[in-house]
Amino acid sequence: MLHLKNPSLHQDACLINGAWRKAASNAHIVVHNPANGALVGHVPDLSASEVREAVDAAQAAFGPWSRKAAKERSALLRRWFDLIIANADDLAALMTAEQGKPLAEAKGEVVYAASFIEWFAEEGKRVYGDVIPAPTTDKRLIVLKQPVGVTAAITPWNFPAAMITRKAAPALAAGCVMIIKPAEQTPLTALALGVLAQEAGIPAGVIQVVTGDAREVGGVLTGSDVVRKLSFTGSTEVGRILMSQCAPTIKRLSLELGGNAPFIVFDDADLEAAVEGAIASKYRNAGQTCVCANRFYVQSSIYDAFAARLAERVKQLPVGVGTEPGVLIGPLIDEDAIAKVKAHVADAVEKGATIALGGKMHALGGTFYEPTVLTGVTSDMRVAREETFGPVAPLFRFETEEEAIFLANNTEFGLAAYFFTENARRAWRVAEGLEYGMVGHNTGLISNEVAPFGGVKQSGIGREGSKYGIEEYLEIKYLCSAVG
Ligand code: ADP
Repeated sequence: MLHLKNPSLHQDACLINGAWRKAASNAHIVVHNPANGALVGHVPDLSASEVREAVDAAQAAFGPWSRKAAKERSALLRRWFDLIIANADDLAALMTAEQGKPLAEAKGEVVYAASFIEWFAEEGKRVYGDVIPAPTTDKRLIVLKQPVGVTAAITPWNFPAAMITRKAAPALAAGCVMIIKPAEQTPLTALALGVLAQEAGIPAGVIQVVTGDAREVGGVLTGSDVVRKLSFTGSTEVGRILMSQCAPTIKRLSLELGGNAPFIVFDDADLEAAVEGAIASKYRNAGQTCVCANRFYVQSSIYDAFAARLAERVKQLPVGVGTEPGVLIGPLIDEDAIAKVKAHVADAVEKGATIALGGKMHALGGTFYEPTVLTGVTSDMRVAREETFGPVAPLFRFETEEEAIFLANNTEFGLAAYFFTENARRAWRVAEGLEYGMVGHNTGLISNEVAPFGGVKQSGIGREGSKYGIEEYLEIKYLCSAVG
């Protein structure tokens, strides 16, 4: 059983127009703990017409919210931030229960999630327009920035809090309202954030959380002409579907999709730093993040040394139930995730890779997989092309810098890339040569609220966080005023 200091955070209803609502049909979706399959809770399986009520409420809430002074919206967001921090332990406990990540990591995510609210509460006060010098003396040319309107967010299970706040905070700060559809695996954290938003005084209809069948809810949100923008984080496959569903109403889109992050270790790298960077980038959230290193390219002369040191370090990572102290690797989210990891490892081994460490289910069973290191990996293997989304580090060998850049870019994805070198000239060449939205040099950790997060190619459209993140929720209006 989950014991929260603030039991009201454990919600089994949706937030629609300021009220906590169950489905009229009483249908619900069950939430399980991936560590042991235990029941954590259930949330409403709303009908399409119930989701439409949320859209109507959002439309009604938009006008008054958008007309508030930015400072007033900022103060409410700041209160939401404070409440999230004050309830961080409970939010982390809920998150670990439904998502599986170790408690310390869950708490880290709560703080990270909150940081977007703090940041955009400030940024919202700095949405500046422009005055353009006119080409004739009889006109004054002004650029106004105005909120996009009613927006929707569809979010994944791997960051149950941060993927929501990274969208909702800039939306609300800009004067937009937002309807959030969290992943079916992790709706409880989302609902708890809704409880705190309400407690902070954010008005009814400004932020709403709806749960239900993904296709049905997604269909209502993407099909509505009231909803002017969709922000989605998830797979490229689903991103494509949602993009096409948004086409008839020409919605604005932010898409944060799959990655296939390369991690390049040059022979002039600080090997220890590279190993630590690899651990941070690969094994966080048991490898289930879209910026997790997916392909390790290691220069020939240091390949064996890096492989040996990495395997030695990975062996020390404690695997277990997220609530146990010291655990660094939790379970994978579900059976499908395990099946994919197994298939990728089997495919690599069949085509000649060697298991340096792990390579099988963990003794704990369930959806626990042993942290794995594969050597002798080549481009014809599935791990070269597809995101594994699990604790598997495949090590490819390369000879030259040109080859490393070519291999790193040889994918339809372009989210995050990492490289390790102590050579400053090489650092610039490689940083500029990588076709990625984000590049980590001598580090495996790049995400924070002040930096622009997002990808190129089929990894997405738009940026979240940073001064750029709020632009995704603003329209430009050009005002031409004749004065002569
Ligand atoms: P992941 O592989 O991380 O589960 P998905 O892209 O499948 O990524 O899911 C991300 C989010 O998209 C979840 O909230 C999920 O419910 C939602 N989703 C999945 N399929 C659809 C769909 N056809 N329409 C709308 N939302 C969807």
